[in-house]
Amino acid sequence: MNAISFTTLERGKATVDAASLEALSAQIRGTVLREGDAAYDEVRGIWNGMIDRRPGLIVCCVGASDVVIAVNFARENRLLVCVRGGGHNIAGSAVCDGGLMIDLSLMKSVRVDVAAKRAWVGPGATLADVDRETQAFGLALPTGINSTTGIAGLTLGGGFGWITRKFGLTIDNLVSADVVTADGKLLRASQSENPDLFWALRGGGGNFGVVTAFEFQLHQFGPQVLSGLVVHPFADAAKVLSEYREALETAPDELTCWVVMRQAPPLPFLPAEWHGKEVLVLAMCYCGDAQAGEKATQKLRAIGTPIADVVGLNPFTGWQQAFDPLLAPGARNYWKSHDFTELSDGVVEVTTAAIARLPGPECEIFFGHVGGAAGRVTADATAFPQRSSHFVMNVHARWREPAMDRACIDWARGIYDAARPYAAGTAYVNFMPEDEVDRVEAAYGGNYSRLLEIKQRYDPQNLFRVNQNLRAKEGLRAA
Ligand SMILES: Cc1cc2nc3c(=O)[nH]c(=O)nc-3n(C[C@H](O)[C@H](O)[C@H](O)COP(=O)(O)OP(=O)(O)OC[C@H]3O[C@@H](n4cnc5c(N)ncnc54)[C@H](O)[C@@H]3O)c2cc1C
Repeated sequence: MNAISFTTLERGKATVDAASLEALSAQIRGTVLREGDAAYDEVRGIWNGMIDRRPGLIVCCVGASDVVIAVNFARENRLLVCVRGGGHNIAGSAVCDGGLMIDLSLMKSVRVDVAAKRAWVGPGATLADVDRETQAFGLALPTGINSTTGIAGLTLGGGFGWITRKFGLTIDNLVSADVVTADGKLLRASQSENPDLFWALRGGGGNFGVVTAFEFQLHQFGPQVLSGLVVHPFADAAKVLSEYREALETAPDELTCWVVMRQAPPLPFLPAEWHGKEVLVLAMCYCGDAQAGEKATQKLRAIGTPIADVVGLNPFTGWQQAFDPLLAPGARNYWKSHDFTELSDGVVEVTTAAIARLPGPECEIFFGHVGGAAGRVTADATAFPQRSSHFVMNVHARWREPAMDRACIDWARGIYDAARPYAAGTAYVNFMPEDEVDRVEAAYGGNYSRLLEIKQRYDPQNLFRVNQNLRAKEGLRAA
């Protein structure tokens, strides 16, 4: 093995000699990859095709001891270090140029204790892995809506999806986490052990260490769920959104309904003449008894004159994957998001006008519907601050050709700017692109100063900085 010239924490260069690299490799139970190795490109590749970074070395860990060795090696050599879970972060924070990448994607184990309704989950597991193991025993964890997302990054930022209003955010179901901190120690974080670290991990992202195992509380749920799509012509969008908003005022926690505005993909249940035309989709899910669900979804399904209504009983694991085909890895992606406490007329005007000038067939605007149980946790109970938000808008620009970069990014930014007056001010760190490093402080609202104090205690040198970093100047942009 030859020496490697790495990027350092201070963005300089440092050469690590061959003997040190060989000693590292010999200690690791997993594998060590460098440029030229067969799996190097696959492991450094992530969901967002805009990101193309080349780590100096990748340590593919298979256990906590590998993570300890990798963290110590990075710290002792002052190497820039990045951590890869599922590789879905829009900012590309799983990968850095020239640094040491700690890859956790092989650590996929999910162990369920059926009697205790608990799951122990490895940091390389995807949401699909978690669903598969938990649903096999009639249990579920609230996570996100795209099953190839990594449980690790999703959890550390908060985590919300179809059953969040009933069972809370993913972090509200976190019981404990094993964490390798910057000094190479393996700590347990829970309400009773290192409670400040536990508070910070629940929303504070990858700032505090490398989580090597998550312990979650599960809920009895499934295997079938009343769920599906109601598709409207976009010409009716303003009316549909106004009635949607009204219907949700009395929605029980069991009912979740997201909005998607985009051009219709060629879905088999849509008449061919609608393919490629602008539509508004109500995507709904009832987290409870199907008969009660039929009643609870009535108001939403009675809105306007839909093109299609395919709400029915689906396997929960299938519904969790419903949007996967539209969100497959590899495309170029750029996101802008806001939290809203309500869907005001101003937001409706801004977003519906933007759909009239979509820059491409895969660009879309989502409104995630939250609140419910997630909204009844106080804003300072965990690091995740935006408990009063009812809707999270994600402007999702998605395209294939680099020549479209400018048009798509500008489209997303324009909507973000125009919608800002109606927004809550906080932001979901898991939706922040790499040019939003300066937004991290605002994103955390009243929890920012406590997060900084805890960061200082657990990671004074900011070893974990390739993320939505609490010390913005040292964070992602410079990576
Ligand atoms: C298509 C798509 C759909 C999505 N839908 C939802 C949704 O419905 N709900 C929702 O809440 N979010 C959603 N997200 C956002 C998602 O939560 C974030 O992208 C999240 O960061 C993904 O985690 P990951 O492990 O896959 O990503 P990665 O890019 O691997 O990691 C994300 C960040 O977490 C850090 N990290 C990862 N693992 C660890 C670890 N074990 N210890 C310490 N730090 C770690 C990384 O360094 C990185 O900074 C979606 C994302 C995509 C791309």
